Amino acid sequence: MKKFQTLTLLIGFFMLFSCDFDQKSQNKSEVNAEIPTIPSEKFGIVIHGGAGTILKKNMSDSLELAYRQKLEEAIRVGHEILARGGSSLDAVTSTINILEDSPLFNAGKGAVFTHDETNELDASIMDGATLNAGAVSGVQRIKNPIDLANAVMTQSEHVMLSGNGAEDFAQLIGMELVDPSYFYTERRFQSLQKVKERLKKEYNHDSGNNAAVFEDPFIKNTKFGTVGCVALDKKGNLAAGTSTGGMTNKRWNRIGDAPIIGAGTYANNATCAVSSTGWGEYFIRAMVAHDISAMMEYKGVSLQEAASEVIQKKVPALGGDGGIVAIDKDGNIAMEFNTAGMYRAHMNAEGELILGIYKE
Ligand code: ASP
Repeated sequence: MKKFQTLTLLIGFFMLFSCDFDQKSQNKSEVNAEIPTIPSEKFGIVIHGGAGTILKKNMSDSLELAYRQKLEEAIRVGHEILARGGSSLDAVTSTINILEDSPLFNAGKGAVFTHDETNELDASIMDGATLNAGAVSGVQRIKNPIDLANAVMTQSEHVMLSGNGAEDFAQLIGMELVDPSYFYTERRFQSLQKVKERLKKEYNHDSGNNAAVFEDPFIKNTKFGTVGCVALDKKGNLAAGTSTGGMTNKRWNRIGDAPIIGAGTYANNATCAVSSTGWGEYFIRAMVAHDISAMMEYKGVSLQEAASEVIQKKVPALGGDGGIVAIDKDGNIAMEFNTAGMYRAHMNAEGELILGIYKE
């Protein structure tokens, strides 16, 4: 009798367990119904540190070396996470953190100055497995905006938070705020002064004007330097992230494409992960990152075809310029730009590194 009772109890437990398990896996497959996850050894990572008028003749050997070393340091951190079986999201945030902490790039520590001599930072991140996303814009006291974007994605019910509100949220979740002076770098401050002087001289306005600011070719050439990262992990999950200080001399709380999901950042396990850099106004209008994914999804074209269509045709046809880095669900990559240069690097599962700055 006792044996029978024990057996019944065991069967009961088993049923309870398997029910619960079924329930969970059903929920999971519901979430991922359209987004297959394919375990893969073809993991990989691609980064950018901005695109623009980056010419060898304007670069000293030591500065070029500094850029190359920092790009390599950053991508190796992300690659190591992926090689150990870590998630693409972890690889993206850790890699971007390195670039944000460097004064070389227009993100985090090296963010450009606004017209009012402040620094306003934007960032976004997207998880290709769930299509969850998080973004922050116009923050002034967040050392690593990509971490806050990640927290918005994972710890709030929202997708984008801005300004003081975003910083209140950061405090609430225990993120340390920095004094705005943390973002002061002499190099960026002098760039702002030069832009202002030039505008005054050549356009006879104090850049408090209007659209003329955005049409100024000098401004056009000095606004790039955003950082971004896309990754495919061993589980087949894609992720993308982008972080920026925006555009030198920006005003009126101008927000570019970097924190806009679909423009600056997009990831979908069914297609690819994309991070953009360039003239934000045009990248928003062309919905660059999502457009590349959509071309793959609806037309079945390759990542490279989709990337060159958008970057070499669609964006320039509107009048904009810039570039993207992207990786697809099979580990194919694209590093496409229509400017003189783009700081970029790629590492594949074999650990091979490709690093470039100029067009060739
Ligand atoms: N896309 C950024 C923006 O418009 C700038 C950049 O990529 O350098 O804010």
